[in-house]
Formats: sequence, C-alpha cells, structure tokens
Amino acid sequence: MFDNLSEKLDKAFHVLKGHGQITEINVAETLKEVRRALLDADVNFKIAKEFTNRVKEKALGQNVLTNLQPGQLMVKIVKDELTELMGGDAEEVDLSGNPSVILMSGLQGSGKTTFSGKLASYLKSKKSKKPLLVACDVYRPAAIDQLHVVGEQIGVEVYSDRGNNDPVAIAKAGVKQAKSTGCNVVIIDTAGRLAVDEQMMTEIANIHKAITPQETLFVVDSMTGQDAVNTAKAFNDVLNFDGVILTKLDGDTRGGAAISIKSVVDKPIKFIGTGEKMEAIDVFYPSRMADRILGMGDVVSLVERAQEQFDEEQARKIQKKIAKNRFGFDDFLSQIQQIKKMGNMKDLMGMIPGAGKALKGLDIDDDAFKHIEAIIHSMTPEERSTPSKLNASRKKRIAMGSGRTVQEVNQLLKQFEQMSKMMKMMQGGGGKKMMQMMQN
Ligand code: GDP
Repeated sequence: MFDNLSEKLDKAFHVLKGHGQITEINVAETLKEVRRALLDADVNFKIAKEFTNRVKEKALGQNVLTNLQPGQLMVKIVKDELTELMGGDAEEVDLSGNPSVILMSGLQGSGKTTFSGKLASYLKSKKSKKPLLVACDVYRPAAIDQLHVVGEQIGVEVYSDRGNNDPVAIAKAGVKQAKSTGCNVVIIDTAGRLAVDEQMMTEIANIHKAITPQETLFVVDSMTGQDAVNTAKAFNDVLNFDGVILTKLDGDTRGGAAISIKSVVDKPIKFIGTGEKMEAIDVFYPSRMADRILGMGDVVSLVERAQEQFDEEQARKIQKKIAKNRFGFDDFLSQIQQIKKMGNMKDLMGMIPGAGKALKGLDIDDDAFKHIEAIIHSMTPEERSTPSKLNASRKKRIAMGSGRTVQEVNQLLKQFEQMSKMMKMMQGGGGKKMMQMMQN
C-alpha cells in the first residue's frame, strides 16, 4: 500500500539529515521534495501546495521549541498534517435506525457489491447486527447473482426481485422485508455505470429520496487517483453522501485519492477495502494511515488483527500440549492457518515499523508458507505428532513427496525445535525471564 509515496517522502526527509537546525533554506528544499512526492501520488495541485505551506509554517514556528532532530520534527509535522488532511478521527456508520438503511453508490466496477458484502459481514460479526442485502441493479442480472453468491458466502439474507425493473420499488420492498423478518440493517446495492451520467444520478437520487437512508456511502476505487476525487465530487453534489469507501487500497501504490478526497468533498473516509476476500475491510483511521504512509508501521492494527483471529480454546489446547511436550507439526500447521487468516502477508509486514522499507522489492506472496505446508503435508500423522522419529530416510521421502530439498526439511525441523523450546521457556515462568533478558 502506498509504497511509491512512502519511498519518496522518506527521500525528502533525507535532505534534513546532518543539519542541526531547521532553516528557511533546508525547509524549502525538503518541502519541494514533499510536494513533488504528493503530486506524483496524484494529489491535487492546490491541496499539495496548501499542505506544504502549512507544514512550512509549523516547522519554522516550532523550530526553537523542541529538541527533536530536524528530520524527526519534519516527519512529525507532516504526519500530523496528513492525519488532519485525511479527516482527523475515525468515523463509523450510523446504525441508530431500526432498521438502519445504508445506501451504496458509485461507478460500476468500483467494488460496490463486494463492499456491500464485506460491510454486511462486518456488521454481523463485529456489531452483532442482522443485515439484509438488497439487489437494486435492474440492468445486470449478473450483479444480482453476484450479490446472492456473496450473501451465501457470509450467511446473510439477500432480497431481489428479478421481474421488477423499478429500483425504487425494489429498495422500498427490501426495507419492508427487513422489518418483517427482524433485520436491523438494510444494505442497498445499486446499479453503477462506467462513467457519471445523468440517468444514473437521477435513479440513485430517486432511491435516496424514497427511502431516506441513515447512511449514504460512496464507493470508489482508490487506484483511480484524481478521477476518484472528481467522481466523488459529482456524486456528492447530487446525493450529499455521508461517507466515502475507498476500495482496492491493496493495489494502490500512490495514495492520492486517500489523501485528497476528504478535503475536496468534506466527507470522511469511513472504511477501506484491502482485497477481494470478505474479510478485507478495515475502519479508516487517518492517523494510522499517516503512519503507514510515512513508513512508521501500524502496530495497533496489527495487534487488533491478531486479537481478532485469536482462538482462545485452541490456545488453551496448545498450551496443554506444550506442557506435556506434545506440540507437533499438526499444531504448527494450525498456527500457520491462524496467521494466514490475519490477511495478506505483505500487508501484515507493512504494519511493522520500518519493515516497509526493508521489504521493498522483496517478493512476499500470500503463499509465504506454501513450502512449509507442503513439507508438513508429506509427513505421516505419526511423524507429525512425534517429530523425533524423523530419521534420514524419512526426511528423504518427505523431501521427495513435497518437491523440496532435504536441506529445507532439515531447516524446518530446526525452526520447529527452536520454536518448541522457546514456547516451553515461556510456559515455565520463563516468560518473565525472557522479557528481562530482552530489556537488558
Ligand atoms: P461493482 O460493480 O461496483 O459492484 O464492483 P464489484 O464489487 O463487482 O468489484 C469489481 C472488482 O473489483 C471485482 O473483481 C472485485 O473482486 C474487485 N474488488 C473489489 N474490492 C476490492 C479490493 O478492496 N481489493 C481488490 N484487490 N479488489 C477488489
């Protein structure tokens, strides 16, 4: 996410390296680079200019008040200004209605249907809501099918009416259905077109008027940069929407839409989409996003994701096994599954401070564990539960079966042993000792 922008900003701050103090001259030089980085990221010219002007004012003003290094001071000011530009605090959707009606708008292909599913799944699992998805695209039967597939996948009911070509009537009937079936959130997926046109605007405006939703969301593909911002403006003029959903951030290396959209339409970004899977949805936190843009990582989100996937029951079972020295490769495999559920590997690594830069150019694919899994899958159940049985001929067989080398099998065994040892240490009250060791 935003790799290009992060790299360029990092270079910009280098100008200040070695300088003892911030001066008019070195600030101007740094900010010229910052501005260039923003423009390359497809941030609107005016916004980039105003941004750097504000940073300059603050930098020169704060210079004497702090003992931070000029580079650090500049990073902090840029971080604060980026956070402010992207909206300050996080804002979630309004769920006060009964049912709460959420209307989705946006161009075709922006990710509306996918996001409708993600939001329904999020509200169901995180907010204990009972959502109903309503398919209002009367032009593309495939879109209705797609919503049904998504609904089935996440276990959420979908309302559609294939014979009906009046989206307003379908939306109204959907809300009625929600009331009669006890659904407390209605998410209405509407038709989009490839470009802004009058008919689409009139149609969505009519739906909006007829059902007066609690929340109207505008969905946009963040990779389209300034086009995303312009489209947002067109929709906002007609709908006066409540929030923006930025999708496909996983593929966006520039970040221009994320940075500029709030200041153009004056509406918060509420959620982001970071992949095609239903779990790839995050509340948008401007400050965490600023951290990520500046390569400072996002430990808070990382810990949150880990907590979400943490299965207490399983953890207890594993603890018992470690205590009895029975931790085997099947447990190892299930730990890997848990890590994988946390999301895309590169995305996860990017949340570790400083890692973004270090990992640049490295090809970490989603299947980072593929080889390990292949090796474990080539072991017999007995070998998995009692790794000490793995002699040379067994290792050779496993290597052949998994298409890996014996060295790789040995390497995995070594890692496994080290991990088991470490876990044993943590168990036996050694956790405290280890922490002390690390602190010294
Ligand atoms: P709609 O026409 O607005 O309903 O768009 P869709 O929901 O059908 O999405 C269009 C395409 O974008 C599909 O192939 C989705 O899988 C993909 N997509 C949607 N959201 C994301 C996202 O956050 N990341 C990625 N990589 N792809 C996405």
